[in-house]
Amino acid sequence: MAEVVFESVGKVYPDGTRAVHDLTLSVADGEFMIFVGPSGCGKTTALRMVAGLEEITDGNLRIGPRVVNDLDCGERDIAMVFQNYALYPHMTVAGNMDFPLRLAGFGKAERAERIATAARVLGLEPYLGRRPARLSGGQRQRVAMGRALVRQPSVFLMDEPLSNLDAKLRIQMRAEITALQRQLGITTIYVTHDQVEALTMGDRIAVMRDGQLQQVADPMTLYDAPANLFVAAFIGAPAMNLVEGRIGSGVLAFGTQRLTLGVAERVLQDGDVVAGLRPEALRVADDGPAERRLFGYVHARESVGSDLYLTVALDRVPALSPQTVALAHVFEDRAETETLLADRMARITVRLPPVRRFAPGDRITLDVPEGALHLFDKRTGRALTRACAPRGQPGDNHQDHPSTNNRKHPTREDFTT
Ligand code: ATP
Repeated sequence: MAEVVFESVGKVYPDGTRAVHDLTLSVADGEFMIFVGPSGCGKTTALRMVAGLEEITDGNLRIGPRVVNDLDCGERDIAMVFQNYALYPHMTVAGNMDFPLRLAGFGKAERAERIATAARVLGLEPYLGRRPARLSGGQRQRVAMGRALVRQPSVFLMDEPLSNLDAKLRIQMRAEITALQRQLGITTIYVTHDQVEALTMGDRIAVMRDGQLQQVADPMTLYDAPANLFVAAFIGAPAMNLVEGRIGSGVLAFGTQRLTLGVAERVLQDGDVVAGLRPEALRVADDGPAERRLFGYVHARESVGSDLYLTVALDRVPALSPQTVALAHVFEDRAETETLLADRMARITVRLPPVRRFAPGDRITLDVPEGALHLFDKRTGRALTRACAPRGQPGDNHQDHPSTNNRKHPTREDFTT
């Protein structure tokens, strides 16, 4: 087992495309690290550089004590599982796992032992004599993992290994891979574009955009304290609501609406900001303080059984500017971005317990608990504060939420990236 260290690693393809810029990151021995980001952000390129499938154009890459920039794949002691993990159809499960071991020149007894161990760990013992055509999608995926596992590598590399599976199986395999990684303790780098996969599987997550590392942190830190607008908008579903505003004289103004700033927020300089509000952090106004309220009307409601999602149009609060949309990269899809920009009023999503009392057109008043506000610099997108309200649970949205947090409020410097 080994750590993997990127030291200012960069990649420029022969056609001049700069896919990865100055990547500095350490993946600890035994750690499960996720690379996540939208299509084209450079996550696959970064992984392929570890695998030795792409030449490294800048910096150094270390696996354990060795700089591996100039080593062939076969000399790096890694194993990789791809999205398209074609199994040999004419070979049995055991044959598929045996193949890489034969290539590597292992003796018969050693091969048999390694296959037996991998089959036991992956629950494939009953299927060793079957051909892939007679296996389910999840079982085939496990054979692909087994084929990598038998090599007992120091580092496991996985590139979107679940994206060909149906939704239910993906959730099951997510849990299986996570449990397996914990059991084996093999340093693992896993690439996905799916932020839910990232949040549920990784010890830490490296968020990338346009070839640049945006933030690396454990899942809850990414969720609670995104370093910038991009991470804020990318991590979390439904996404964090973003609303433009202006801080001045202890007040945060959204259009004609005003929120009194909390103690920790008052340290910020006056200026233009983007406020972030998680859908579950808002409460329907009950007896919260009148100076922390937002007013709007219900634009749409969507019930998913356990939760009710309301889209609320905020009264006389302008929609996001193109600059904020670009910083947050809210949608990859151009048409969706244009629709968002065409909106005249800010719209936010609120997650509530499944109450029936709201219908489109209803007026609604929302409490913004102290500590629920994330604030970002409007010009740079960098985080100025982080919210620290407890995350809501389904069903607790109407309860009073004393602002229970003893966490130190970070200062502006804590978020300088
Ligand atoms: P996806 O999820 O779509 O695979 P990704 O985040 O993994 O995306 P990469 O595949 O690493 O991104 O690509 C990063 C950038 O490098 C993209 O702009 C892509 O078009 C470019 N790129 C990838 N492979 C090559 C290549 N062989 N030659 C030139 N440019 C490339």
